[in-house]
Amino acid sequence: MIRGSCLCRGIRYEINGKLFQALNCHCSMCRKAQGAAFRSRARVLSADFRWISGEHLLTFFESSPGNHRGFCRVCGSPILTKFDSDTSVFSLPLGALDDDPGIRPQCHVHVASKAPWFTISDNLPQFAELPQ
Ligand SMILES: [Zn+2]
Ligand SMILES: [Zn+2]
Repeated sequence: MIRGSCLCRGIRYEINGKLFQALNCHCSMCRKAQGAAFRSRARVLSADFRWISGEHLLTFFESSPGNHRGFCRVCGSPILTKFDSDTSVFSLPLGALDDDPGIRPQCHVHVASKAPWFTISDNLPQFAELPQ
């Protein structure tokens, strides 16, 4: 069981399954949405995801066509992203997790859009965009 929550704790969820495709995304949308140098995120099967509380606090912003970034309307924490193209998975920021998901980000993507004030100092592979 992996639990997650927002800053105000109004939204809480649990995941009964594995996270996969963990990475650090440096695209400008992720940087703004997280207010950080990059977004560490992973994917989860929507069937493995369950709300504990606060689903009504979730507000979605369509940052690009069909990509709906969900955040807490009280505290602003990013919670999950839904995709019109594939409703079987969610993307979620590792920063909202309360438990260790076991996996670690495996690469950096969209480094062509990286913040000029941030230097990547690990040895993970870097990709200019999102590899297919
Ligand atoms: Zn909140
Ligand atoms: Zn991104």
